[in-house]
Amino acid sequence: MVLKQALIFLGPPGAGKGTQSKRMAERCGVPHLSTGDMFRDAVSRGTELGRRVKPMMERGELAPDDVVMQMVEERLAESDCARGAVFDGFPRTLPQAERLGKILESKGFGKPLVVDFCIAPETLLRRIAGRWTCSVGGEIYNIYEAPPKIAGICDFDGGTLVQRADDRAEVVKERLAAYQRQTRPLADYYRRLGVLEEIDASASVDNVSRALAKIVNCGDGSDGRL
Ligand SMILES: [Zn+2]
Repeated sequence: MVLKQALIFLGPPGAGKGTQSKRMAERCGVPHLSTGDMFRDAVSRGTELGRRVKPMMERGELAPDDVVMQMVEERLAESDCARGAVFDGFPRTLPQAERLGKILESKGFGKPLVVDFCIAPETLLRRIAGRWTCSVGGEIYNIYEAPPKIAGICDFDGGTLVQRADDRAEVVKERLAAYQRQTRPLADYYRRLGVLEEIDASASVDNVSRALAKIVNCGDGSDGRL
């Protein structure tokens, strides 16, 4: 396998890029890199960086670009990234994207391949805000697509269904608006570089995987099927 490239998956929360980026990383035999995971790992290992970001994480703040970039650069220097990596939810800002470009270039990687997970806000809202979880057994329902037989009650154990505070429609709308503000310029930047591919993220998980396999060539001689 000669991926020798960074893959960047852009998309709003709930668009499925976490699942797809993990699958793709596995398929291409490269690490799946999420800055959230990197930060949590640094904090739990008590590294210098971890001690710096711990208070920010506890306050729910985003780390400044230079801290994020230092972490990413260190991670990319590790040997498992020699053939490439899949970035999930990074870069988030234009300065991060520009610095990442320079780091990749210095490693002889060339331009990244960027996949934009396109999904209508209404579809995403139904997907996230429709999600209710059983307070007893943890079963997950979608009140639009897979509703329980009796509203608010779990089919299996009669438990009360609850919605996570983060999944409430107003919260989701706000998160989406913030994502659009921040990430549209990023998509435009990569489009100008000629490296942006768009996929329909409203399709099923397996269909999205198939669409991705056609876009990403792992260099493993596969015919594009997973
Ligand atoms: Zn239940």
